[in-house]
Amino acid sequence: MKLVFATNNLNKLKEVQEMLPNSIELMSLKDINCFDEIDETETTLEGNAKLKADYITQKFGYNCFADDTGLEVESLDGKPGVYSARFAGEPSNAENNMQKLLAELQNKKNRKAQFRTAVALNINDKKFLFEGICKGEILKSKQGEKGFGYDPIFKPKGFDLSFAEMDSEAKNKISHRGIAIQKLIDFLNDYK
Ligand code: IMP
Repeated sequence: MKLVFATNNLNKLKEVQEMLPNSIELMSLKDINCFDEIDETETTLEGNAKLKADYITQKFGYNCFADDTGLEVESLDGKPGVYSARFAGEPSNAENNMQKLLAELQNKKNRKAQFRTAVALNINDKKFLFEGICKGEILKSKQGEKGFGYDPIFKPKGFDLSFAEMDSEAKNKISHRGIAIQKLIDFLNDYK
């Protein structure tokens, strides 16, 4: 089955490709010659994921899924959340985002946080939503060189390593996106 993943982020494409069975032929936006900038204008992760999947299905006619992820910090009332990519302003800059978050948490005792991913799937005229959550905490400084985004300052619960110190296989097993995509894959494997 051909399935479009509505993303331009090669890190994410690689992560998801590693988790998919061979029976599903994953295509990127580039593979379907879509070079449009799809603005994430909704105020929830679910809204943005749906918006992206619907754009591709309506304009290009493909079965498609899209994801949106946010880092939700407890003592900041769930911020940066849906605005995680643009936390320190646009254009998106991972280093600036991390520094802003570390500064905002400087005097906070509670450093609990969770990554949350929403995945919207459009398949044969039906729509489905999946969610993945990875709980953890924000470190006091950066640790590790791997990964992307907030990985160097996020330590998943039950581990002594930051996401940026884990290889992608280990991260995929426990990550928000890994969990949401695994739910999508379980669904697709049962889908007739
Ligand atoms: P997106 O919706 O996946 O594009 O993610 C929104 C923001 O969260 C971006 O700034 C990403 O860098 C960040 N982000 C998403 N997933 C991860 C992750 O697995 N680790 C670290 N940061 C992430």
